[in-house]
Amino acid sequence: TEASHNVSSKPPPEPSPLRRAKFFKAKMRILVTGGAGFIGSHLVDKLMENDENEVIVVDNYFTGSKDNLKQWIGHPRFELMRRDVTQPLLVEVDQIYHLACPASPIFYKYNPVKTLKTNVIGTLNMLGLAKRVGARILLTSTSEVYGDPLVHPQEESYWGNVNPIGVRSCYDEGKRVAETLMFDYHRQHGIEIRIARIFNTYGPRMNIDDGRVVSNFIAQAIRGEPLTVQLPGTQTRSFCYVSDMVDGLIRLMEGDDTGPINIGNPGEFTMLELAEAVKELINPEVEIITVENTPDDPRQRKPDITKAKASLGWEPKVKLREGIPLMEADFRHRLEISGKN
Ligand code: NAD
Ligand code: UDP
Ligand code: UDP
Repeated sequence: TEASHNVSSKPPPEPSPLRRAKFFKAKMRILVTGGAGFIGSHLVDKLMENDENEVIVVDNYFTGSKDNLKQWIGHPRFELMRRDVTQPLLVEVDQIYHLACPASPIFYKYNPVKTLKTNVIGTLNMLGLAKRVGARILLTSTSEVYGDPLVHPQEESYWGNVNPIGVRSCYDEGKRVAETLMFDYHRQHGIEIRIARIFNTYGPRMNIDDGRVVSNFIAQAIRGEPLTVQLPGTQTRSFCYVSDMVDGLIRLMEGDDTGPINIGNPGEFTMLELAEAVKELINPEVEIITVENTPDDPRQRKPDITKAKASLGWEPKVKLREGIPLMEADFRHRLEISGKN
C-alpha cells in the first residue's frame, strides 16, 4: 500500500520536534550587532543561557573574532552572519542590541571615517530595521559623550565637553549622533529605544594588544615588560567587570526606561594606582614607567549610577581587585597559545 499513496492522499507530515517547539513556544529572536567582540560575545553567552532566546550575531570581524563565539557555532538557536552594519540588513527580530563599533582608541582612530560611518549609517540602518519589524533597540553609547568632563562624577543630565574636530571625535561625536538618531526615531516613529552609556569595561576576551589600559597593563605584567603609564598618570577611570556590564545591559533592555543610563563601576582609580594594583596582583618585580599621552585624553571619569540603581535595580558586584585575576587567567592562557605559534 506504501507505493499506492499519491501526494494528495498523504496525511500532513508530523512536525519535527524542533518545529513543534517553535510553534508552541513564543521564542524571542534577538539580533546582536558586534556580537563577535568583547562585550558582545559575553552578552551572547548570557542570552543563549535562556532556552526561549534565538540569537543572531552580525559582525564584520574588524576587532571581533569568531573565536569568541566558538561555543555557539552550530547551535540550533544561534546564527552568525558576516555583515557590515553600514550596509542595509534584512532580518526579522524582536530585539536589537546594537554594539557594532570599534571601542579601543587605537582601532577607532585607525580609520576614523569608517568609525563615523559605523556610528551614523550603521545606527540609522539598525533603526530602519527596528522600524520595519517593530523591534526594540538598545544602543551601547559611551561615557566619551561627556568628553573631558567639567562635571564630576558624570550624571546623565550633563551635556558634556567634547572637541568636535579632534582625533577622538569620530568616536565621541559619532556616538552623540547615534544617540540623537535614536531619540529622533523614538519621537518621530515611536520606536522603542534604550540607550546605555557604558564606562570603561574590562574582562576576559579583550584584545590582548588593543591598547586599552587594563589589557595593556595585564599583558605587560605577564610578559615582564614595564607598565606604561601615560602622562600625567593622575588621570582617572572607573572600571566595570564585563559580567556586571552584561547584567546591566539586559536589565536596561527588559525595563521601561529609555535612558540614557550610565552603566559602569563608580570605583575610581588614577592610572598610577591601577598600575600599582596590577603590579602587586600579577608581578611585583615589574617596573612602572611613564610615557607620552595622546591628545584629548579625559582627565577624570566616574559614573554617577543613581539612575541605574533606581530604575534598573542594578549595581556592579565585582571589584577591580577581584576582576584583575579573572582577566589574568584568560590572558595567560591566550599568551601561552600565541607564544607556542
Ligand atoms: P569590540 O571592539 O571588542 O567589539 C565591537 C565589535 O563590533 C567587534 O566584534 C567588531 O568587529 C564589530 N564591528 C565594528 N564595526 C563594525 C561594522 N561596521 N559592522 C559590523 N560589525 C562591526 O568592543 P567592545 O569593547 O566589545 O565594545 C562594544 C560596544 O560597547 C561598542 O559599541 C563600544 O562603543 C561600546 N563601549 C565599550 C566600552 C568598553 O570599555 N569596552 C566603553 C564604552 C562603550
Ligand atoms: N533599513 C535596513 N533594514 C530594514 C529597513 C531599513 O537596513 O529592514 C535601512 C534602510 O536601508 C535605510 C535605513 O535603514 O537606509 C533607514 O530606514 P528608514 O525606513 O527609516 O528610512 P528610509 O529608507 O525611508 O530612508
Ligand atoms: N593609558 C595608560 N597606559 C596605557 C594605555 C592607556 O596610562 O598603556 C591611559 C590613557 O592615557 C587613559 C586611560 O589609560 O588616560 C584609559 O585609556 P583607554 O585607552 O583604556 O580608554 P579610554 O581613554 O577610552 O577611557
